[in-house]
Amino acid sequence: MSEPMRSERPLPEPVVRIEEVRELARDLVVIPNRRVQLVPNIGVIGGTHSVLVVETGLGPRNAETVLGFAAEYAADRRLYLTTTHFHPEHAFGAQVFAGEATFLVNRAQADDLATKGAAYLEMFRSLGEPVARQLAGVEIAVPDVVYDDAYDLDLGGRTVRLRATGRAHSRGDQVVTVPDAGVMFTGDLVEAGQFAIFPWFPPHDTDVSGTRWIAVMRRLAEASPRVVVPGHGDLGGPELLADVRDYLELLRDETWARRDSAVSEQTIAEEVRALMIERHPEWDGREWIEKGVGCLCAEHPASEHPASEHPASEHPA
Ligand SMILES: [Zn+2]
Repeated sequence: MSEPMRSERPLPEPVVRIEEVRELARDLVVIPNRRVQLVPNIGVIGGTHSVLVVETGLGPRNAETVLGFAAEYAADRRLYLTTTHFHPEHAFGAQVFAGEATFLVNRAQADDLATKGAAYLEMFRSLGEPVARQLAGVEIAVPDVVYDDAYDLDLGGRTVRLRATGRAHSRGDQVVTVPDAGVMFTGDLVEAGQFAIFPWFPPHDTDVSGTRWIAVMRRLAEASPRVVVPGHGDLGGPELLADVRDYLELLRDETWARRDSAVSEQTIAEEVRALMIERHPEWDGREWIEKGVGCLCAEHPASEHPASEHPASEHPA
């Protein structure tokens, strides 16, 4: 049960375990996801007077595990909580931190939680009994503090940078960096050992943007972090950022080249999927390749601006 799960197999229990906790720098630890699906990498970052927790885990029971660890770690220091984006395994345990920690996020993420949280709760409940069990009793939390684009959180002798990236993996993505330690928490903008997750579910959710995601990855690389903590998968260095950028660019180029030749979306998905698996045979999450193709087809320049590319009379009635 502990080996990484392929998508064809049933999901294992998405349970956060306080195991293999890694100290990345002085007073900065990660509770790794041990490659268990729907368990995120979770950060605990300390300063002299405060401690920031990054991600809650899926549902209140996982969040209680995280809060228990963080409270003990913090001792008499003040607790803050932030989440990289609103997806359930990252943020749907925040209610447990109410009264214990100040929940702080960017505005676009707060909006995602408020407008899409309930629908994602329903969707994730349908992913099987183990997931539904962890989601029992979830209430979508309301952040205590909301910022627009950038927030510098002073933990005492250490400042953590919270930055909204703009729409990419979701509308409200946020990256958390600890400059003195060279550590960057990317959330699902970066996964290690798996294909980029495109939550492309038209017509319900089409917020993911492949082209904006590429631009975000280029900007993140400029920060040259020493350690990158991906949303899921093993921690790494800046090469994780480059891997995602390269993959997304290839996905875009191969998709658009076929779109230019008026190949059907079905055929594009089949051909690009085969190509990407050949390129990354060891990566999990193959089901996300064709979601990415779908997203990028919609972002093809001719698709995005049909009025300027074709006479109005060519539009289907
Ligand atoms: Zn996500």
